[in-house]
Amino acid sequence: MAFIEELGKAIGNGSRKAANKVKDMTGILQLKSKLSAEREKINRAYISLGQAYYDKHELSVEEEFANEFKIIGAGLVKIAALEDEIAELEGARVCAECGSRVERSAMYCSRCGALMGECAPQSGDPGRRAAAEQFDFTGKDGQNGEQEQ
Ligand SMILES: [Zn+2]
Repeated sequence: MAFIEELGKAIGNGSRKAANKVKDMTGILQLKSKLSAEREKINRAYISLGQAYYDKHELSVEEEFANEFKIIGAGLVKIAALEDEIAELEGARVCAECGSRVERSAMYCSRCGALMGECAPQSGDPGRRAAAEQFDFTGKDGQNGEQEQ
């Protein structure tokens, strides 16, 4: 009889332990999600800090950060080229005020805010021109700025 009681107690302890384990695991998951939220917050702050620093020192690159500046500079050039390519394929128009490309459907220029009016989309063969630009671009830019951290 004592054995059965002991067994019952053991099982009781076991399931309590299992319950605690589940509780622990839920707690761990919650802590981990809090942890990644904090990390995410810090990362965003790092990014805006870096962005602010880059904007401030773009024209006076310090030796210490020369590599990062090179990567960012090359990346910005690529982004601009890709955005141009997309805009062109989408039949974008050129802003008469600032010369930047604006989505066909946009009422105002996204850079300077000028009213876009009812201009016709850019003429020419956007597909072929974009392809040529892309070829040109990758040819020029093959070896710089590709480094991953
Ligand atoms: Zn504009």
